[in-house]
Amino acid sequence: MLCLHDSIRHDDPAVQRLLDAVEDAHSLTAVILAAWQVARVLTVHLVEAVLAERARRPLAWPRCPQCGVFLRSKGFAPRQVMSLFGPIRWRRRVGRCPHGCETPQVAPWDEALGVQPHQRTSGELQSLGCALAVFVPFATAARLLGWYSGRTVSPPAVWGWVQAAGQRAMETRQEHLHALAQGDLPAPEALAADLAAAPLVLGADGVMVPFRPTGGQPTGKTRWQEIKVGVLARLGQHRTRTGKVVTRLHHRRLVAVLGGVDALQPRLWLEAVRQGIRQAPQVVWLSDGARGLWRLYEERLAAYAVGILDFYHAAQYLWKGAAAWLDGRTTQARRWFGWARHRLRHGQPDGVLADVVEALEVEGLPASARDTLTALYAYLERHRDHLDYATYKELGLPIGSGMVESACKWLIQQRFKGVGMRWSEDGFNHLLHLRLAWVNGSFEALFQVQLQPSPNT
Ligand SMILES: [Zn+2]
Repeated sequence: MLCLHDSIRHDDPAVQRLLDAVEDAHSLTAVILAAWQVARVLTVHLVEAVLAERARRPLAWPRCPQCGVFLRSKGFAPRQVMSLFGPIRWRRRVGRCPHGCETPQVAPWDEALGVQPHQRTSGELQSLGCALAVFVPFATAARLLGWYSGRTVSPPAVWGWVQAAGQRAMETRQEHLHALAQGDLPAPEALAADLAAAPLVLGADGVMVPFRPTGGQPTGKTRWQEIKVGVLARLGQHRTRTGKVVTRLHHRRLVAVLGGVDALQPRLWLEAVRQGIRQAPQVVWLSDGARGLWRLYEERLAAYAVGILDFYHAAQYLWKGAAAWLDGRTTQARRWFGWARHRLRHGQPDGVLADVVEALEVEGLPASARDTLTALYAYLERHRDHLDYATYKELGLPIGSGMVESACKWLIQQRFKGVGMRWSEDGFNHLLHLRLAWVNGSFEALFQVQLQPSPNT
């Protein structure tokens, strides 16, 4: 049995010094911080005591991968990793092939602990560093981590952990996409009954991010590239303190890709299946007029989802038409716009379309006005099935896509567009996938560590 007395029996003089420091501290903050140093040293002692005890246990040696005989112990060798509480050192048996095959030495106890051969920092330190880097620049993440670990952590170290973890996340995503392409649909995520009964909303948007020039050189002209982001959520109603009922997104899931609509499509579909697009009582696709995204809707989602064209985007289009048609007579333009907008909002798009046809028939209409009105007509006609705003309102569905678009923007804007930031494609992709894991609730699974406090008992 492990007991505290045993584990610090070696009479570490550091412990007494640290205890004295607690006694000498004046302010409450100083007492707490000094006591924390004691806890840190005790933690290291405890961990090292456990590792030393395990290293003494007998172990089963694996076979040599080359000649097949059992490997044999070459005695104890030291090992060290940096942890959240400072360096942890232990000695364990290492083995080699007795026939002298050119295979790396093995340390079965390290393997049992989940420590990789060249690993220099422990998992909890890496995952905390990555979690900080999801929200703040690498240098800030390193500094915050330094406060907690009591050691200097370098920004490149945090950057390296993010690259490794992001790469793992990307590989997992790639496996899921591959399975999907083979016709292997993922299981829907388990949901509480009230969420499962709520409408599922999907939307997408594009956000531009500054990249370094080709080749990843730090100097030269910034290349702006588009990131496509999709959001999936359950719609909830929330009553504000003033009694107003507003729509909220619950159980939000995001997908994103450095690339176009074609790259977004399988990712969005994969998540849609997971979020129960095939089971949800009602599914809604909310989007502004972007053509590529509506094509994605037609090709992939239309069989399950009602498509709603963002009302405010449609109204903007109406205004453009009104201004072109009734140019110079702004009162009249405004009057027609107000009227058309009202009819559109209350479920009479055909009346608006008829007006536009009539306007196009007027002789002497300037060419530019004719072009604008023709475009307006084509736009309304193309979206004829996505304009039943009166019905959507009745069903309690939102008619604006702002909510889904801001969810998309947040994912990118908050972390990737700081002053002076420019990304390499790999650097961007790795961090993007960690951010996605974070917002989608799969971050801890990625590191297989539990950083959350256990619930109070
Ligand atoms: Zn061998």
